[in-house]
Amino acid sequence: MTNNEDKLKKIISHSKEYGFVFPSSEIYDGLSAVYDYGQYGVELKNNIKDYWWKSIVQFHENIVGLDSSIFMHPTIWKASGHVDAFNDPMIDNKDSKKRYRADVLVEDHILKIESKIEKEIEKAAKRFGDSFDKEQFVTTNLRVTGYLEQIAEIRKKLAAAMDNDDLSDLRRLIEELEIVCPISGSRNWTDVRQFNLMFSTSIGSLSEGANTIYLRPETAQGIFVNFLNVLKSGRMKVPFGIAQIGKAFRNEIVARQFIFRMREFEQMEMQYFVRPGTELDWFKYWKDQRLKWHLGMGIPEEYYRFHEHDKLAHYANAAFDIEFNFPMGFKELEGIHSRTDFDLEAHQQYSGKKIQYFDPELQENYVPYVVETSIGLDRTFLAVLSYGYHEETLDDGSERVVMRIPPFLAPIKAAVLPLVKKDGMPEKAREIFDWLKMDYMIQYDDKDAIGRRYRRQDAIGTPYCITIDSETLENDTVTIRERDSMKQDRIPINKISTIINERLTLKS
Ligand code: ATP
Repeated sequence: MTNNEDKLKKIISHSKEYGFVFPSSEIYDGLSAVYDYGQYGVELKNNIKDYWWKSIVQFHENIVGLDSSIFMHPTIWKASGHVDAFNDPMIDNKDSKKRYRADVLVEDHILKIESKIEKEIEKAAKRFGDSFDKEQFVTTNLRVTGYLEQIAEIRKKLAAAMDNDDLSDLRRLIEELEIVCPISGSRNWTDVRQFNLMFSTSIGSLSEGANTIYLRPETAQGIFVNFLNVLKSGRMKVPFGIAQIGKAFRNEIVARQFIFRMREFEQMEMQYFVRPGTELDWFKYWKDQRLKWHLGMGIPEEYYRFHEHDKLAHYANAAFDIEFNFPMGFKELEGIHSRTDFDLEAHQQYSGKKIQYFDPELQENYVPYVVETSIGLDRTFLAVLSYGYHEETLDDGSERVVMRIPPFLAPIKAAVLPLVKKDGMPEKAREIFDWLKMDYMIQYDDKDAIGRRYRRQDAIGTPYCITIDSETLENDTVTIRERDSMKQDRIPINKISTIINERLTLKS
């Protein structure tokens, strides 16, 4: 097991132990790729949503929110192309009977080569010490350049097979790369077939035969079909955006890696409607803005990278992913897509309604172009946990697990802890708790020794611990302990809010 797999395992078990994420239906042995968010998970999730919503809707005069339903008219999914083309290529291993996404098998193969490159770089960095020039090494070391060529070649073949929807080429590539099933170790593969990812169910009110509806696989279509409603009721002027947070459902072939790939998940999407011809400028604008949003969490830039799509969807004229360095490597966290007028045009055609905007400056009607930003809430949650999870050995030799969750996202902002359960300390602590709880999610805890209580708060990422001791009763001061540095300061009670606020407001 590599260190990284190990880290993911630790995060999964920590998440369960401390009430962040539970496997769904666990007492019935679980349901594959579905998870429940526990008492701290739901707080963290809500805080991430709030950060997104404020940055997108509250901070932009020309972006408004929407909450459309999960069930929609089935023709919407015909128009959007999901009924015919929302497929993933799947392949089964005949020995293990396990099913895989054929393109992911190839991507995983590439990851293995990439990790070989990383190892070469690490070795060389050690060998050369301070004089190590990574750029030069990567471009001149024969082993590394050989690996890079291999990757480029594989990517080219994969893109070509996916582009032409050529499933037999994909199968040939898997054979050529001698990819084995991770379970059985064999190369006994079936043919590659297409598999539609939409869940369907039936609705009572439609006439017989036409009652199949789908659970939405993305929130975006709810935005497109409400374009006219929002345009008119909000008196919107292009460029403007509509944002939505909500559940999406995909019957993923391989659902694994914890909450990274689930069958029921949440998306935060914004569709920005622009004048045709300006879409690539707006695309660049949103690409920059979205990276800033991620960096605004305080996670360093090296955790992120842009990945340009090798294969553009039939409706897109530009597409980038923001990838995050998860414990399992760099993977997609958010997509920024220039979707042209594909969706609105399609709904215009299928619905027979005119979906256009009259541009008062140009004095003409047009179907706006769309730039989309689409981010997975659960993947952002996993990014925050992966960045935050740290095991530390302290000066006294003891160990702690600390979740360095950005303070403004932390589930609990402060814990109020009476040093001992007597001498009026609990009462004073309750007083402080009752006053702070009006503004923040805080916690009162008087069980166990103070050190253990600090550890519990570290493990859920609480940025501040406020301790009430005998001095508090004398002069109305408390100690405030900061999670990461573990530094303790004595401060007057009436300064607590100011200090907590400093690190919580989006202004900072
Ligand atoms: P992938 O290639 O990883 O399957 P995608 O390109 O299909 O993702 P999009 O359709 O662009 O994903 O969806 C936008 C965002 O929704 C993704 O960037 C991701 O954060 C999130 N997302 C997509 N599928 C899932 C899933 N099964 N579980 C959790 N989040 C998901």
